[in-house]
Amino acid sequence: MKKNITDVKFKGLKVILRCDFNVPIKDGVITDDTRIKSSLETIEFLMYGGAKIIILSHLGRVKEEADKLKYSLLPVSKRLSELLNREVVFVPYTRGNEVETAVNNMKNGDIVMLENTRFEDLDGKKESGNDLELAKYWASLGDLFVNDAFGTMHRSHASNVGIASLLPSAIGFLVKKEVDEISSALNNPRRPLVVMLGGAKVSDKIGVIENALKIADYVLIGGAMPYTFYKALGYNVGGSLVDDASIDFCKRVYEENKSKIILPTDVVVASSMTNEANTRLTSVNMINNNEIGVDVGVATLSEYKRILSSANTIIWNGPFGVFEIPKFSNGTRKIVEMLSLSKAKMIIGGGDSIAALNQFGFNNKNAHVSTGGGASLEMLEGKELPGLSVISDV
Ligand code: ADP
Ligand code: MG
Repeated sequence: MKKNITDVKFKGLKVILRCDFNVPIKDGVITDDTRIKSSLETIEFLMYGGAKIIILSHLGRVKEEADKLKYSLLPVSKRLSELLNREVVFVPYTRGNEVETAVNNMKNGDIVMLENTRFEDLDGKKESGNDLELAKYWASLGDLFVNDAFGTMHRSHASNVGIASLLPSAIGFLVKKEVDEISSALNNPRRPLVVMLGGAKVSDKIGVIENALKIADYVLIGGAMPYTFYKALGYNVGGSLVDDASIDFCKRVYEENKSKIILPTDVVVASSMTNEANTRLTSVNMINNNEIGVDVGVATLSEYKRILSSANTIIWNGPFGVFEIPKFSNGTRKIVEMLSLSKAKMIIGGGDSIAALNQFGFNNKNAHVSTGGGASLEMLEGKELPGLSVISDV
């Protein structure tokens, strides 16, 4: 068992808190602050408990000097300050005198936020490459490390794995909730367990499909992925998205798991990837050369309804059609509606899947909507998260 912040004493200590504040920002304005709100519980617990909190986070990918303008954490520090109704001292550096002075001036309950950890990537990928000297520097600023950045738990960066290997450490409430919810759905689900996998590329999800087939009662495959399966089975898929490198994989897993894998039986095909396209509902073995599969069909949706209504646990990652284009969004919308009414325990992850939830008005208290697409996928693959393994045990 990993230590969490209720297992450690931190009053008066300098706590380095890694958050995932990688929020979407447009023209300097945060367009979705879910990730900031998700760590408030941890920050307030530390704040009211008298810690001196030094917040680290990355934001975007920093590849050249010009990216620094786009990816400063300044707007994040302002938003956090509003949400907490407290001062958050922002230091526009990742190291140096200003950082050390701000840290040394802290009183119990104070919050200092450093600049985007990935600014260090301009200097030989020090953050993303988990540079030891950088990790040592950051670790030297604090007494205890708390990781609440679930979204980067699957990465081995200086600001998470690096610092955690040098200081006593614990996880925050967000990481604990994410890990507990996802682990219990994977390892100890109320059955039937239905895993729904959609999205664009099979190759992104090979590991997830394999692990899902081990643990689930049914695996529903939607989005663009069925077309690679159909091609493997010798059907004409027209101009549908096919992941040629995964054809052999699809052929093998389908042969071995015919009764568990549920592929669509009918689909919506379109003349082009635009909302102006002509569309047609067709059985999957009657797709023409010039047609592209863009959504699941009505017969498929009623089969999904039957399977989902008997499920006691549902894990969903990846939209089941090109839902960004209104004409192709019916399947994903219907699925979101089915899940809204479901009494099953649900785990939902993936940036585009969450966008679909928001777009179609999802609301269900049985659902755990994960803040970390990549990290939740790696858990679904059955992998260990490096950011978690390194945390001190109880
Ligand atoms: P998530 O972000 O939830 O993990 P992915 O990134 O794997 O999901 O996949 C999302 C993308 O898959 C969406 O942009 C969606 O348009 C696309 N997609 C879904 N169905 C199809 C399809 N039939 N053809 C092409 N793209 C599709
Ligand atoms: Mg995506």
